[in-house]
Amino acid sequence: MTETFHELDHPARLLMGPGPINVHPRVLRAMSVQLLGQFDPEFTGYMNEVMALYRGVFQTKNRWTFTIDGTSRAGIEAALVSTLCPGDDVVVVNAGRFGLLLAEIAERCDAKVTFVEAPWGTVVDPQAVEDAVKRVRPRLVACVHGDTSTTMAQPLDEIGAICRAHGALMYVDATATLSGMDVPVDAWGADIVTAGLQKCLGGPSGSAPITISDQAAEHIFSRRHVEKGLAGTGGAAGAGRRIASNYFDLAMIMDYWSEKRLNHHTECAPMLFAARECARLVLEEGLAARFERHAKAGAAMTAGLEAMGLSIYGDKAHKMTNVTGIWAPEGVDYDRVKVRMRTDFEIEIGSAFGPLTGKIWRIGTMGVNARKHAVLQTLAALEAVLRWEGFQAPAGAGVDAAAKVFA
Ligand SMILES: *Cc1c(COP(=O)(O)O)cnc(C)c1O
Repeated sequence: MTETFHELDHPARLLMGPGPINVHPRVLRAMSVQLLGQFDPEFTGYMNEVMALYRGVFQTKNRWTFTIDGTSRAGIEAALVSTLCPGDDVVVVNAGRFGLLLAEIAERCDAKVTFVEAPWGTVVDPQAVEDAVKRVRPRLVACVHGDTSTTMAQPLDEIGAICRAHGALMYVDATATLSGMDVPVDAWGADIVTAGLQKCLGGPSGSAPITISDQAAEHIFSRRHVEKGLAGTGGAAGAGRRIASNYFDLAMIMDYWSEKRLNHHTECAPMLFAARECARLVLEEGLAARFERHAKAGAAMTAGLEAMGLSIYGDKAHKMTNVTGIWAPEGVDYDRVKVRMRTDFEIEIGSAFGPLTGKIWRIGTMGVNARKHAVLQTLAALEAVLRWEGFQAPAGAGVDAAAKVFA
């Protein structure tokens, strides 16, 4: 007989890495309600509610605001593949792993990538972006807001105006910051912004909120592909301009989210319900209060880690409020600290990528975990684990310093 294994019964772990994080109980409940058919009026009503809710979360009036079935990367890929034609120039603002991801996807679209870069742990100077845009005249400028690989938040206030002045579209990956830090899409003048649920929004990965300006939508619709035998004739984009993906064809996905309800994929109902509940939680709390809660939890975590004698990674002036990188102290076993946090305390913290592998840990304070108990538990556990590994943090100093920030 084939073994059937046991019913899921793992312990409730505290997920304090840079995402995924613990899912809000209301989101878990929303995901467990019965499905509806994708054209059921009740279901399409929920889709319209999701559009309205995410306009609030993204601080935008954009009509085209919805979700894509897939993780955050699905949103990134849909944005780039639907925008970039082969041979198009794209300027990628890069100072971390997720900037490199934008370039990799753009190259797969056969676009020509020009980097504007800064060393990891710092941010890119907007003046350098302007210089590159003037020189290259790109179709698109692609940026990451909070790059969790380096814990840096790229200032984006000036980039939208630079793009406008030179006829470029502006794309932002706000996966790690949406609803945790200010992401004012319309005030930035950003054309396409995408995210995921598993960071500050407090849901599971698997749904990618996206918002698209009319200007960007017009460009995308101009590349519309008409399926043979389905929608009649005419309107199909010529060779070389057609969007090279069916699943991530934003023109088709927007037709599905429009009143036309043209069939594309089968919308994943539990993820739609999750995205809807995440946005409801954000707007009930209020954006300003939510940013403040994330800022306070991050400040408390940072204060606690420093009081323990640890050094914070990167340029503090541009640090994301919701993720903190710390240098692993000399002499401690980097991997074993992570393992003992999990096995002895049921707490997950993050390791690092690329040049930071084995050097920094990353600790998130996002969504339901941007709270006092999660910060204090993590600091208390880390102090003990570091002591067992031979690093003597002053007893109780981390928890005391963090508690003071909350007091
Ligand atoms: C976490 C993160 C992603 C992750 O993408 P997934 O496809 O959801 O794993 C993308 N971009 C940034 C900036 C992130 O922090």
